Amino acid sequence: QRLPSVAVRCAAATEQSVLKVSRNENFGKLQAGYLFPEIARRRRAHQEAHPDAQIISLGIGDTTEPLPQYIADAMAKAAAGLGTREGYSGYGAEQGQGALREALASTFYPGMVAADEVFVSDGSKCDISRLQVMFGADKSIAAQDPSYPVYVDTTVMMGNTGTHNGTGFDGIEYMVCTPENNFFPDLAKTKRTDIIFFCSPNNPTGAAATRGQLKQLVKFARDNGSLLVYDAAYALYISNPDCPKTIYEIEGADEIAIETCSFSKYAGFTGVRLGWTVVPKKLRYADGSSVHADWNRMMTTCFNGASNIVQAGGLACLQPEGLKEMYGLINFYKENATILKNTFQEMGFSVYGGEDAPYVWVGFPGKPSWDVFAEILEKCNIVTTPGSGFGPAGEGFVRASAFGSRDNIMEAVRRFKEVYGKQ
Ligand code: PLP
Repeated sequence: QRLPSVAVRCAAATEQSVLKVSRNENFGKLQAGYLFPEIARRRRAHQEAHPDAQIISLGIGDTTEPLPQYIADAMAKAAAGLGTREGYSGYGAEQGQGALREALASTFYPGMVAADEVFVSDGSKCDISRLQVMFGADKSIAAQDPSYPVYVDTTVMMGNTGTHNGTGFDGIEYMVCTPENNFFPDLAKTKRTDIIFFCSPNNPTGAAATRGQLKQLVKFARDNGSLLVYDAAYALYISNPDCPKTIYEIEGADEIAIETCSFSKYAGFTGVRLGWTVVPKKLRYADGSSVHADWNRMMTTCFNGASNIVQAGGLACLQPEGLKEMYGLINFYKENATILKNTFQEMGFSVYGGEDAPYVWVGFPGKPSWDVFAEILEKCNIVTTPGSGFGPAGEGFVRASAFGSRDNIMEAVRRFKEVYGKQ
């Protein structure tokens, strides 16, 4: 995340303090703010400078549509139940309610994963951080470049990198994914690391890995004895039948892979907060000890279970009526993605993603992506996300998110065409 000089600076270094506590030096290595707060800051600045501007956000990738009714009702009922003696419950199992773990296993991993290998949580981002704590501070890490910034930033926080060298962090193995390699890394050139973060469909490029590619990835991890953390947060957006929706469809993955997933982008749960992580019992560390047992220890010690109200919502998502509503929502956002992708294509841009993911990855070759971000904000009053915020190889791209009301997407299309359609 190379930010221009206007980025937030760390002002605290020279200020007086009553504390005699040293700062975790790894936090000093992080680049400016986390990407999305920085975008929000620039949006606010633009709004202040142009109070009348009707800004449309295709930026952060936050869901916009109301919760589906059946799912919302299930949570309302659970909340009301808590106000009765019969319906009240306190702490639940830290791993999640049995019925929800069963439903997740049978819905998404039939014949592949057992219910007690599924751990329910307050979301994937939180699980990624807890995974890092479990892995510990002496691990080497690989991540797709570009990818969801949390993999790299939590690695930095753990002290598993050197400093930022102006392009990326020393010590991270960046697996470059660009149009030139069809958004799949050249594994022959990838160094062995202890942990590999891999996200498919990828945020931000929208690329979903094919079965053949995932076989290569699993083989690579097995050959190197690396632990694969597979982020499937957008798996249900996949249309391509050649792209698996879970890593456990690949033979041998259950001995090397942890998979994390979320209701955030499936059911509009970004604010509700519910996700899950699968840790197969077959996973063993080099000394033969169980990864599953350590993750169980992690969740029981550092997490107290997802909200019981929210778990009722998760269970509703997996009932026939809830599933129908959830797929309805996903299809709505997928239509938005198609509209955006077609628009950029018609205007002659090189555009990727948008078919198996709610993100459209638009190329602006030779232009710094923060400049493109600024230009689109200035000329169109539209917030996008600069590609370089997702890693060095994201330079020259911006990500447009398909999360938006249809009216906003159509208005965004109109503005894009007005500014970029006649070039
Ligand atoms: N993984 C990826 C690839 C994401 O893009 C996101 C959110 O944008 C998450 C995980 C976080 O999901 P959650 O809301 O469950 O924390």
